[in-house]
Amino acid sequence: MAFSDLFRIKREIIEVGRRMYARGMVAANDGNISVRLGGGLFAVTAAGVSKGFMTPDDIVVVNEEGRRVEGGGKPTSEAKLHLFAYSRRPDVGAICHAHPPYATAFAVSGRELPPNILPEIILTVGGEIPLAPYATPSTEELARSIEEHLGEAGAFLLANHGALTLGGDLTQAYYRLETLEHYAKIAWLALSLGEVKPLPEGELDRLWCISKGMDPSCREPDENGEAAPPGTG
Ligand SMILES: [Zn+2]
Repeated sequence: MAFSDLFRIKREIIEVGRRMYARGMVAANDGNISVRLGGGLFAVTAAGVSKGFMTPDDIVVVNEEGRRVEGGGKPTSEAKLHLFAYSRRPDVGAICHAHPPYATAFAVSGRELPPNILPEIILTVGGEIPLAPYATPSTEELARSIEEHLGEAGAFLLANHGALTLGGDLTQAYYRLETLEHYAKIAWLALSLGEVKPLPEGELDRLWCISKGMDPSCREPDENGEAAPPGTG
């Protein structure tokens, strides 16, 4: 990869870190960000740095085994989690991990976010936000904790820990983190008012079709009574 491309990606990671910190999604040195560079290499944030005040020296290039190939810092302790997700999801180009308070409150209470209540979350993040079981931060077990739902999900709650979002690029991964936290805040407020009302029946299918760029009725049965199977397209 050209030096100028790596520099641009480092600037993007720094900007996303600054926004995560400014929005209170991380405290002190929490959180980590990574981008797939191609050729089996990844840019990851260094361990022990505030995401609000990073410089290009705080981004390290690692290989698929997590070994440092460029940069002076030590890679984030969660590099295993990021690299595991990249290895299973060729469609993923960037990953954000943070401890945003509302999403993390759901993760700490062991409670999944109510599905099927807001169209925006389905269009931006996807219909499913799994709650991955608790595992010790920085361990191989944490990486494995997301395995069961890694197939299609764009965002995870990590029990007693925080949130993880995946995207085709860094903008998408970061926007999913913002949207997830915004959604968790709305859900928390709505639950404090009482029950939340689900979207009308069939709406999840319609939104899924729209999110894939297809006709809203793409999952409705055709004249032969056959609906497109879930997960196709
Ligand atoms: Zn964390």
